[in-house]
Amino acid sequence: MKTECSIVRDLLPLYVEDMVSAETAQYMREHLQTCTECKAELANLKEGTLLDTVEKNITQTDTEKPFKRMMQRMNRQFHMFAYSLIIFFIFLGFGWTEGENLMYNSIIMPIVGIFGYYVFRWKAIYKVPVLLLLIDLFIFLFQIVEIGFADTLGWTGLYCIFIWIGNIIAFLLHFAFRKEERE
Ligand SMILES: [Zn+2]
Repeated sequence: MKTECSIVRDLLPLYVEDMVSAETAQYMREHLQTCTECKAELANLKEGTLLDTVEKNITQTDTEKPFKRMMQRMNRQFHMFAYSLIIFFIFLGFGWTEGENLMYNSIIMPIVGIFGYYVFRWKAIYKVPVLLLLIDLFIFLFQIVEIGFADTLGWTGLYCIFIWIGNIIAFLLHFAFRKEERE
């Protein structure tokens, strides 16, 4: 290796970082124009710096991971909570069917629909009614509430409509919120 090349290579890291004097930079530029080997070395060095930056970015994402994981866990817990509420409200609501609190179901069932959308998204359209039917049949079979079979099916159908209304409300809110976020 020529002495000139040796000096230039030693200075390349500083040159890349723009930390050499104007005269040195001029001298190096002239050398790099004529020497392909040193030019290749410069390219390597620049690539290395680039790789370093990429690596740094990856490390940064790594530190964000625990936070993301925590958010996911919290989200899962909220889902579990909402899911329990759905079951609880269906039990409560259907239990009120033959009582004087019956009218509250026009509020409770849409709320079940809203939670249903939160947990199941569009699949709530059939998943919540299936859940409703199962719970209502369970209540009928064990006569937790004194109710006939035809009434059980009738009320289940009616509540289903209220649940779908809740689904639609939740969907519209979700849609509007997402649109707002994008703007
Ligand atoms: Zn050279």
